[in-house]
Formats: sequence, structure tokens, C-alpha cells
Amino acid sequence: MEKEKILDLFKSTEALQHGHFRLTSGLHSPEYFQCARVLQYPSYNEILCGEIALHFRDMRVEVVVAPAIGGIMVGQEVARQLCVRGIFAEREDKTMILRRGFEVKAGERVLVCEDVVTTGGSVQEVVDLVKARGGIVVGVASIVDRSREPVDFGAKFFPLLKMEVPVYQPEACPLCMENIPIVKPGSRKVADPAKL
Ligand code: ZN
Repeated sequence: MEKEKILDLFKSTEALQHGHFRLTSGLHSPEYFQCARVLQYPSYNEILCGEIALHFRDMRVEVVVAPAIGGIMVGQEVARQLCVRGIFAEREDKTMILRRGFEVKAGERVLVCEDVVTTGGSVQEVVDLVKARGGIVVGVASIVDRSREPVDFGAKFFPLLKMEVPVYQPEACPLCMENIPIVKPGSRKVADPAKL
């Protein structure tokens, strides 16, 4: 799937927005990305995850494991298309664990799926969890790779789209210098940058 087509889907669903945003990290950015906004449309999720399923169809995947919460929709749809089990790991007391009777058996071939890889921390925890149970991680996939540092999961990593999003310290933000009103993602309110 062409990068432009993926970006068109992100823009038309407002998963990707342009403007002046104050991110939860406190940094400012001219872009805001919320993957769930595109994945809320099952037909788009089907298209995007279809690319992942196609990519790994000959890898004899037996179970897809996703880190909760963001990875669940991706993992479930990829699993559906590969006709295998789809399970998720969740955090309990800061540790990623399998609950609900979910299992990875020794020797099982596992594809780890995530929506957005930023630092890769959650994915790495799932990879470690799978390996600790004797599972074989045949690959890692995500809709978007936003990592700044190269990530190495010790398995083939297949992101559909590599997105490099510029971020600025508030005091060095060129959008602030131009007095462009800033938006806190998740709200429609426009605030005066000087008051944030
Ligand atoms: Zn700014």
C-alpha cells in the first residue's frame, strides 16, 4: 500500500491532524496523530491490517499477541485475517502479563502487533514475555513507526508507515513564535500559547 494512500486515510479520519499541538509530553508539535481514530472504522482497520497479514502470511504464524490497549484492535484484525488466535498482554503492577486464560505455548510461532511504536518499550516487553514462555517471535508489526532511535526487537519489524513527527521544546517552538493558537489534543478548544 502506498504511503500516500495510508496518509490519506489518516487525514480523512482525522487520525492525523496538522496545526499547533501541545502533546501530553509537554512538547509542541505541528502534527498530532491518534491511530485509534482511523482504526475505529472496521473497514479501514481491515485494509491496514490486511497489509500486515499479507506480509506475514507465509511465516506460519500460530498466534498474534498485542500489547493492550492500543495494539488490541490491530492484533485482533491481523489474527482474523491470518485465521489464527489473537490474544493480548496487559499491564498489572507495571509488568506486562497474560491474563484471562491467554497462553503462549513453547514452540508456538508468534507475531507481535502494535498500533504505534514510539520507543518500542511495550512491544519489547511482549517479545520478552513470549520468549520467556518458549514462544518463537517470527516478527513484529505496527501500523505506524514513530521511533526516533532505531528499534531492534530481535525479530523482523514491519511497520506500515514510518512517520517522523517534529517536536519542539515550548520555549523553542517556531509555531509559538508566530503566535499560532495552540490546541491540546482531545479537546477542540483553542488556547492562547502564553497561558499554557
Ligand atoms: Zn508551540
